[in-house]
Amino acid sequence: MSANTDPCAPLLARAEALLEDLHLGTVSAWKAANPGSLAIGIMPVFAPRPLFEAIGVLPVNIYGGGDRVDVIKGDAYYQSYICHIPRSTIEMGLGGHLDALDGMVFPSTCDVIRNLSGMWRMLFPQKYSSYLDLPQTFEAPLGGLFYRHELNRIAAELAERGAKPLTEDNLRVAIANENERRGLLADLAALRAKEPWRVKASEAYLLTRAGAVLPCVEHTAMLRDFLAQAHVRPTRPYDNVRVIVLGAFCEQPPLGLIRTLERSGCDLIDDDFQLGLTTIEGNIPLDEDLGDTSPLDARSPLDAVVLSYTMRGQATATRYIAEQVKGKALVDRVRSLNAEGVILAAPSFCDPALLDQPMIEQALADAQIPFTSFKYAENSAQFQTIREQAGAFSDSVKLWGAA
Ligand code: SF4
Repeated sequence: MSANTDPCAPLLARAEALLEDLHLGTVSAWKAANPGSLAIGIMPVFAPRPLFEAIGVLPVNIYGGGDRVDVIKGDAYYQSYICHIPRSTIEMGLGGHLDALDGMVFPSTCDVIRNLSGMWRMLFPQKYSSYLDLPQTFEAPLGGLFYRHELNRIAAELAERGAKPLTEDNLRVAIANENERRGLLADLAALRAKEPWRVKASEAYLLTRAGAVLPCVEHTAMLRDFLAQAHVRPTRPYDNVRVIVLGAFCEQPPLGLIRTLERSGCDLIDDDFQLGLTTIEGNIPLDEDLGDTSPLDARSPLDAVVLSYTMRGQATATRYIAEQVKGKALVDRVRSLNAEGVILAAPSFCDPALLDQPMIEQALADAQIPFTSFKYAENSAQFQTIREQAGAFSDSVKLWGAA
């Protein structure tokens, strides 16, 4: 299908332009259109975007510089044996790429992000900087209250810098908007899993990633427009293997790497790129009966945001999973999506992803699900080896049902 005949091409081109806009021109334009409003960068993996939107703040997901920022100064701040995203993020900060932002929030994803938050505070003392400590115990009286305190703290600190005060009415609107977006992201995922030739992984990636810089309502409109066109775009199935990609975490693979996997005989029917948007399973539960949630009250929109995290968090390595078997959720996902194999693709030196990987591999082996593994960096440029590995994997699954 050529770009000329594909009705989805203009939307995809816009989404790709947003990804490539390392100077956050869209954010600057939003601020110009909303004088006095704040834009706050959020490092991966997860922070509750409706909280920011409810107080008139544009939350901007920061995924580092990818493969288009030369890291020179950023390397001076980190030892060589950690992942790449903190270096390129520092480089972007020092190089003025993030000047449109009024501050940054650093969720407690890993030690690297924690250290980055400290460096940020020292390097940019004039900007807002906050470490968001996400709870790892999920009972309402413990982790729930703690998390609510964290969210109230951030809302109050941003109000001191010019954001609107947090009100129940505004938060309800923001949650409703977010749930609508989540519904469309779920529709996109369902269409891609059913007809992966209709929505390629790289396209789903671009469309989802556009939400990193767009206000929720604008991103929702983009998703709706795309879905309307995707259902009727001229395309055809390929004889590919149905594969899930897992382990991406916060440092994102280059778009070229995703496209390389697509060209290696794999239909990537699901992934955990941009994990933060799917950290919560389903909707944020507005006005739902969740049973006994005391001392939290599910009818309060702020408590609903809290409960969505404590009760509906996905099983990922950023979340403490006590008695459950690591990898079980993935095996269940493989079965429910009728996948034929799994590609484990983790950022080099990513502790959370790589600590879980042996247990996940064991779970896949026990379930006799074919898998293959490799590591990448956000600035990886040579994809030939990965193409050969993924191509051999898809061939072996196709021929023998095993890798
Ligand atoms: S890629 Fe992994 S180790 Fe690096 S900042 Fe992200 S979660 Fe932490």
